[in-house]
Amino acid sequence: MITSLNSATFIGIDAVLVNVEIFIANGIPGIMIVGLPDVSTKEAKDRVKAAIKNSGFEYPVKKITINLAPADLKKEGPLFDLSLAIGILISAGLLKCVLNLNDYIIAGELSLNGNIKKVNSIIALSILAKKINKKLIIPCENINSAKFLGVDFIAFSHLKDICAFISGSRFNETSAEKDSVYIHNIKAVREYQESEIEVKDVAFLEGITQDIDNNVKDRENYPDFFDIKEQELAKRAIVIAVSGHHNILMVGPPGSGKTMLAQSIEGIQPNLSLEESIETSNIYSFSNKKISNEAGLIIRRPFIPVHHTVSIAGLIGGGASNPLPGDISLAHNGVLFIDEFSELSKKTLDSLRQPMEDKAINLSRSRFSIVLPSNFMLVAAMNPCPCGYYGDIKHECKCSSAEIYKFYTKLSGPILDRFDIFIEVYSAGLDKLIVNKKTASSSEIKNLIEKTRQIQLKRFQDSGIRFNAGVKSSKIEKYFAVSDTALELAQSAVKKLNISSRGYYRILRVSRTIADLDAKDEIDDSSVLEALNYRNTNLLRV
Ligand SMILES: [Zn+2]
Repeated sequence: MITSLNSATFIGIDAVLVNVEIFIANGIPGIMIVGLPDVSTKEAKDRVKAAIKNSGFEYPVKKITINLAPADLKKEGPLFDLSLAIGILISAGLLKCVLNLNDYIIAGELSLNGNIKKVNSIIALSILAKKINKKLIIPCENINSAKFLGVDFIAFSHLKDICAFISGSRFNETSAEKDSVYIHNIKAVREYQESEIEVKDVAFLEGITQDIDNNVKDRENYPDFFDIKEQELAKRAIVIAVSGHHNILMVGPPGSGKTMLAQSIEGIQPNLSLEESIETSNIYSFSNKKISNEAGLIIRRPFIPVHHTVSIAGLIGGGASNPLPGDISLAHNGVLFIDEFSELSKKTLDSLRQPMEDKAINLSRSRFSIVLPSNFMLVAAMNPCPCGYYGDIKHECKCSSAEIYKFYTKLSGPILDRFDIFIEVYSAGLDKLIVNKKTASSSEIKNLIEKTRQIQLKRFQDSGIRFNAGVKSSKIEKYFAVSDTALELAQSAVKKLNISSRGYYRILRVSRTIADLDAKDEIDDSSVLEALNYRNTNLLRV
C-alpha cells in the first residue's frame, strides 16, 4: 500500500511543500529514499528505524521505497523523519489511521529513542501552512513559537504519542508520560489567538519570555540619549530619522561622538509589531544567529553594526547552496549601522544600491534564486575628509583639495541619493548656544517616537507601508497633505539648490515625519524648512 504524507523543505527562507510517498512490498528487506535527498535525509533511515523499534512497534522486514517529490527540489534537513516513521507504520499495516493526514504538514526530527526534536524553521512552516490552508504536526518544543504564529497545529513529544493520536486511542491519563504529551487542541488554539489578537506589538513578549541570550545584556549597554550632551542638533536629526525610518548619514571629525550617537538609536527604536517580528525572526531562523527566548521571536528591532571591512557575502548574504542571510537581512525592520562609511570599497557600496531600492535582495544560484527581505534603515557615519578634520575648528585639515574631491566623488551619486538626512556632527562645544532646554532620556524619546509611529500606522492602514520613508514617490500625493505655501517652498528650493527629483521626494518624506512629531495633519513651511536643512551638506555639492 502507498501512503502519501506532507512535509516540507526550504528554498531560501521559504518553506516548500514536499510530498512523502511510502511504498512497502515483499522483497529484499531495506529502505530506499529517492528524490534528491541530502546526507541528513539518508541518515534519517537509521534514526527512523531505531525510533520505530523504541516506540513499541516491530520494524517491517520488507522492501521499503520512499519517494520525496517534487524530485528536482533539493531536500534539506532532518525534518522528514517523523513523516517517514508514520508513513512506514501505516503502509506496513502496523498503524491504523483515523485522522485525515492530508490536512497536515508533518515536521519533526526523531531521536533514536523516539523523542521528537525541535525544528528551527517553524515560522516558515507556519507561513506555508497558512498559505495552502493546512495544519501543522510539530514537536512540543515548538509550541511556544507556534502559538504566536496564527497557525493551527498539534504537537507531540514522542513518536508513540502521535501514533496513539492518529489511531484514535486515548492517552493513558494516569501515566507518568502525561506531561510529556502535549496535544494542542485546535479549537483551544483559536480561542487563544482570538484572546491575543489585540496584541499588535511584541513588546509584551519581554514580560513573558525569559531571555537567556547573554548578547542581549551586552546590547543593553547602548548610550542613553540623556548622557549625550551638547549634540542637540544631531540628536534631533536622529529622532526624525528613527521616527520615519529614514536613512541618515552623519559626517564629522574623529571624536565628535558620531558612533555614540548612532549607538544610542538602539534604545529609542519603536516597538516591533507581531507581523514585523515574525518576518525578522524567520530570517534569523535561517541564519547562524540564535533567538534564545522561549517564543523564538525577535522582540526588539535589530541594530546591526557593520565593520567597513565586511565581505559582500557577509553584507548582502551568500553561500554556495542555500545562501545565508547577510547583515542587510538581519537588519530587516531595524537599523544597519556602518561606521567609517567612506572606507567601504566601491564594490561593497555598489552592492547596497539594489537592496536599498527594492527593500529586498535577490540572490541567484545555478538552479534557483531566492529573495531575502532587507528593509533596513541605514545609519552611516564618516569623517569629512581623509585626515578627518576638514571643517573642524580645533584641528587643521592636512588634505589637498584634490584628495578631498576624490574622497567625495567615490561616494557621490547613486549611494548618496539614498540618504534622507545628512547631518554634520561637530566636536562637542560648538552648539552649546542652543542647549538651554532639558535633555530628554532615551525612554522619553522612545515614547515620542512610538506616538509618531502610531500616527503613521493609522495613515498607512492596510497598505503594507509602515513608515513615511517607505512611501513610493507615486503615492506621496495620496498620503501626504501639504500646505500650498510649503509645497511652493519645497519646489523653489529644489530649483535653487539643483536637487534631483528623488531628492525632492525625500524632502517631502522627511517633512512628513517632522510634521508627525508635532502631530500636525499637514506638512507646513517649518517642516519643509527643517527637512531642507538636512540636505545642506558639502557632500552634495561635489
Ligand atoms: Zn582632511
